[in-house]
Amino acid sequence: MTPPPATSHASATGPASATGPASATGPASATGPASATGPAPAAGPAGTGVAADPPAAGAPAPAPRPAEGWAEPAATPLALLLLGQGSDPGSEPGVDCPGSLPAASDPDLVARARAAKAALGDRAFVLGHHYQRDEVIAFADVTGDSFKLARDAAARPAAEFIVFCGVHFMAESADILTGDDQKVILPDLAAGCSMADMAALPQVETAWEVLADAGVVDQIVPVTYMNSSADIKGFVGRHGGLVCTSSNAKRALEWAYARGGKVLFFPDQHLGRNTAVLELGFDLADCVLYDPHKPGGGLTPAQVRDARMILWRGHCSVHGRFTLDSVEEVRRRVPGVNVLVHPECRHEVVRAADLVGSTEFIIRTLEAAPPGSAWAVGTELNLVRRLANAHPEKRVMFLDKTVCYCATMNRIDLPHLVWALEELAAGRVVNRITVDPETARYARVALDRMLALP
Ligand code: SF4
Repeated sequence: MTPPPATSHASATGPASATGPASATGPASATGPASATGPAPAAGPAGTGVAADPPAAGAPAPAPRPAEGWAEPAATPLALLLLGQGSDPGSEPGVDCPGSLPAASDPDLVARARAAKAALGDRAFVLGHHYQRDEVIAFADVTGDSFKLARDAAARPAAEFIVFCGVHFMAESADILTGDDQKVILPDLAAGCSMADMAALPQVETAWEVLADAGVVDQIVPVTYMNSSADIKGFVGRHGGLVCTSSNAKRALEWAYARGGKVLFFPDQHLGRNTAVLELGFDLADCVLYDPHKPGGGLTPAQVRDARMILWRGHCSVHGRFTLDSVEEVRRRVPGVNVLVHPECRHEVVRAADLVGSTEFIIRTLEAAPPGSAWAVGTELNLVRRLANAHPEKRVMFLDKTVCYCATMNRIDLPHLVWALEELAAGRVVNRITVDPETARYARVALDRMLALP
């Protein structure tokens, strides 16, 4: 199959650009070529030191011409990344999506998705994360958070294809937990997770060396949030640690502290801090923040030695947006409102909220809420909007006034799902996510330790 030009991908996801991916792909693609070919040559003469004769007064400006010595910048990986046209497989696994996507305006998209799904029958099992668009959720065989979906995938050994409508790390976990003969498909390979990308394996290995130099590594149990790459889960499995979710973070930390005096927690500092302080009773002073972009993580050996919780400097770009101001503003605006947030929110937000819990907890809480009650929910907008529609007898609103979709989750739209299903139905396996056996083996160890938690 001939890959489409770089810009066709963006244009084919038109509506996506209007919501999530706009910030990620739309403007970059729109401005990228202009930046590369328009202004650059004009700036070239100055940059290359070639002086141009000034135009005579009143004379028309000369047509721009390439200056001598000017050469188009090489399409280096960095240049392409800056233009939104490349990929960095090391930190953002797969930011390309081969194939010819149907147009978002195609009026037959729904019928095409139905037909492809029917043609595949039980051979394909479609998973939909709660943060996915409604148009995608409509075709999911099951919905859930990342952990539930991984278990759901593992419980369908007869399905040849696991079509994962979520983000990259979720598809990796599904590949680790499913059989070798099953193929996990991510309809858009550009659906990564900015939080997961904040902890790359070389950075974590460097941190481990820093902790070894401080003489504390033997006391440390590494704990990684489910929202991390398979590489990181494998690292944790190799070093005696485990994976956790937002539902079982407290139990995971109790497991870890029963085996060591310190925890290195990544990638989400907020989940780690909120769990340690609000559920295990730590002081904030027991926690330090390791910044992978600073020498030594920005910490002194003494700080590392004194800490009980070493938090990785990572966060969710969606939940990290909610602020204390958001909470105070909604309380002023809606008297009696209940503030319900996800533990990936900042510590001060979680402290100011009435209730905090995982995505599944948020869903259950709103289902059980009395009619007429008001809820300001601090999590991804697709889910909040779906919950508001599902519970019209309750006032369900978004905690922040500004729209906040998960940009990467939103990359998977109906055109991508139709494309993936049709390709599979035609016998072409596309966008398969695989984890190498060695990484998968240790990641499985870390996942199994979590699954064995009481
Ligand atoms: S909502 Fe946050 S943690 Fe979840 S996929 Fe998006 S960026 Fe990652």
